[in-house]
Amino acid sequence: MSAPIYLDYAATTPVDPRVAEVMSQYLTLDGIFANPASRSHMLGWQAEQAVESARRQVADLIAADPREIVWTSGATEADNLALTGFMRANRARGRHLVTSLIEHKAVVDTAKALEDEGFDVTWLTPGRDGRVTPEQLRDAMRDDTVLVSLMAVHNELGVIHDLAALAEVTHAFGATFHVDAAQAVGRIPLDVGRLGIDLMSLSGHKAYGPKGIGALYVRRSPELRLEALIHGGGHERGMRSGTLPTHQIAGMGQAFAIAATEGEADQARISALRDRFLDGLDDLDGIHRNTAVEVAIPNILNLAFTGVEGESLLMALRDIALSTGSACNSASVEPSYVLKGIGLPRPLALASLRFSFGRFTTEADINRTLDVLRHALDGLRRRAV
Ligand SMILES: *Cc1c(COP(=O)(O)O)cnc(C)c1O
Repeated sequence: MSAPIYLDYAATTPVDPRVAEVMSQYLTLDGIFANPASRSHMLGWQAEQAVESARRQVADLIAADPREIVWTSGATEADNLALTGFMRANRARGRHLVTSLIEHKAVVDTAKALEDEGFDVTWLTPGRDGRVTPEQLRDAMRDDTVLVSLMAVHNELGVIHDLAALAEVTHAFGATFHVDAAQAVGRIPLDVGRLGIDLMSLSGHKAYGPKGIGALYVRRSPELRLEALIHGGGHERGMRSGTLPTHQIAGMGQAFAIAATEGEADQARISALRDRFLDGLDDLDGIHRNTAVEVAIPNILNLAFTGVEGESLLMALRDIALSTGSACNSASVEPSYVLKGIGLPRPLALASLRFSFGRFTTEADINRTLDVLRHALDGLRRRAV
């Protein structure tokens, strides 16, 4: 049996071999393994240098100052720090947070926890394309709004928010703009100054870096106040304690440096592959695009297949690694809260699949997927009648 075709890049990406090579230099006795916080010997300084060089690589990709990068364990922790850390530190100014119903769980569940803590959350309902408009945001803003959190690129749908316009509305009300950019890095240009982003969550493993590392961009001017969630040695200017994982950090730095030089070419190639995939689906009936392709990155394509069950379709496609638009509880299959959130009817939501493409996707992968898909749909629909 051949290895499955990997079309689940939005769940995680493989580490780029060039990244793995760099990471291996920071682990063993003959490498730079020392604690980057060790100030009393050369080995510690070398590790610190590696961390600072990676901090610059990450900052460069988003046109930030390296001092604005706070290392975390991933985008989940960065989202937690941005929302909880910011709301707690700015309690005296206001208790209102604005976000949307279809944000990543790392934002949704953090905002729910903040509600339990006594903060007030407005949950915006996005349009059918999965995006919140600047007008919608304006209507939700209040005098006591201190934070707005909306993601750059949606992880299930691939649609891109108009960040500059949303930032403008946020700032007009004196609030701070947080963006979860885990799916956006290396895929769309992210200049935090030009876009007006104040806080931004980043992840290593969605951009060909390792899992277990991420960062929060924290604007320095005007300075933002954040309360730490993890206390300890006062690392990362007191915002996030814990010994820095040099190999993870160097890996994320290298991955972001590659994204800076190759991201555009990657995207052009992936865009052509996605178009080829869409062309190949053209003569198949009953396919509904959940992804508004005109306003989405080419990497993510969410499709609903009428007349079949998502689970059966996934079974028939077991040689292809991809995600469904549903979550299995022990008792039942529930449609994804995202597809529900954009108003997709339940049967369509249950028959939705997310195809996500990346750096190592080939034309042969696309052709093979089209073949398998055609065959599977034929079989399932014939059985259904
Ligand atoms: C993957 C993802 C996260 C979580 O990132 P981790 O680094 O795995 O914690 C958060 N937000 C979005 C949009 C994601 O796609």
